[in-house]
Amino acid sequence: MTTPLVELDGDEMTRILWQMIKDDLILPFVDLKAEYYDLGLVHREETKDAVTYEAAHAIAKYGVGVKCATITPNELRMSEYNLSEKYKSPNGTLRAILDGTVFRTPICIDSIKPVVKNWKKPITIARHAYGDVYKATEYRVGEEGKAELVFTDKNGNEKFRETIYDFECPGVIQGMYNKDSSIKSFARACFEYALDAKEDLWFSSKDTISKSYDQHFRDVFEEIFEKEYKDAFEKAGITYFYTLIDDAIARVVRSEGGFVWACKNYDGDVMSDMISTAFGSLAMMTSVLVSPDGKYEYEAAHGTVTRHYYKYLEGEETSTNPMATIFAWSGAFKKRGELDNNQELVNYATSLEQACFDTLNSGVMTKDLVHLAEGIETKQVNSKDFIKEIKKNLEAILSK
Ligand code: NAP
Ligand code: MG
Repeated sequence: MTTPLVELDGDEMTRILWQMIKDDLILPFVDLKAEYYDLGLVHREETKDAVTYEAAHAIAKYGVGVKCATITPNELRMSEYNLSEKYKSPNGTLRAILDGTVFRTPICIDSIKPVVKNWKKPITIARHAYGDVYKATEYRVGEEGKAELVFTDKNGNEKFRETIYDFECPGVIQGMYNKDSSIKSFARACFEYALDAKEDLWFSSKDTISKSYDQHFRDVFEEIFEKEYKDAFEKAGITYFYTLIDDAIARVVRSEGGFVWACKNYDGDVMSDMISTAFGSLAMMTSVLVSPDGKYEYEAAHGTVTRHYYKYLEGEETSTNPMATIFAWSGAFKKRGELDNNQELVNYATSLEQACFDTLNSGVMTKDLVHLAEGIETKQVNSKDFIKEIKKNLEAILSK
């Protein structure tokens, strides 16, 4: 490797898997050049979370990072880890600094059939992770009275005032916003990702009802596509198309898969859970944060698998699925290799993924998958033996 890969270590069971993956599947095969940042909660506390910001800036500098799952502190974690502050979610910090969009893709294998039987290829969900209802201002109206939407410019001139509702009884109101800069970043990240994946891009919203708000999202996508991506899409043989969210859902369910579906914040939150469940398992879901200027941060979509970690601490061997974490590494290696014209690194990453598929197709799998697999004889193993089996298959591929 020539350029460093930014490595972000994490917490609990995934931290244990992280080390196993490095020891068995990476270090024996790759001359790993990593910039290591320990985002484990203990070290975040030691650095008062500075390490998270440093890691984010390192990804902005070098372009590719790989991240282990991390704890987002809540009240319980505050006492468990004796924290001096309730630190923000590391993923939130990374998203804010890299101005990124999160893309989630399921890892598909033949023996695990999607609930929707016509899905043949993965469906990637792109969620606009900024604004809308997640940054809304809400008020519980407890009496009669008038709610208005008012906009005042920075000089104090009232530019807009409209009655939302004249309440004759108690009710609720909500005010939400988004920013052009964020919508544009979201659109560009989606177009970039689709080009990279060579897959069609769909975007959906409710513009028939939300005639200014959602219509504006639609217009921004349309304008950026026409001006910046139309030719590149044509060359790549892929298409961009907009459709109403209701229609999108009907088409997604009837489709074969194999495309990127861009969703507004709330739609993406809900639909990504539907897609991951319908494809089989959260443990088989990969995730990548892509910034509009082409920086990539790869990770598993699941968390630190706390329940398994407590068992591990009691000396039990757990059958935690490392697939999504391994694919975070292979995704990062592929991207690094591509950017550096390092074909050897790309080949290694492809072989690693193949070794994982070979392992699963031979029936060797972790507990979560054994329950889902159909049509093959399965053998349930613990995480360590699963990784050892992948290593064996990887050695076989690489020695060919
Ligand atoms: P989780 O870690 O995703 O685990 C929830 C459950 O899903 C597990 O108990 C397990 O079910 C199953 N599961 C998830 N990943 C699995 C895997 N690789 N192999 C086998 N089973 C798997 O979610 P959580 O328990 O709600 O959250 C734990 C911690 O993770 C929290 O502190 C949260 O802040 C953090 N988190 C971090 C990220 C991130 O860094 N991106 C994302 C989400 C959550 P069974 O127990 O039934 O086996
Ligand atoms: Mg959700």
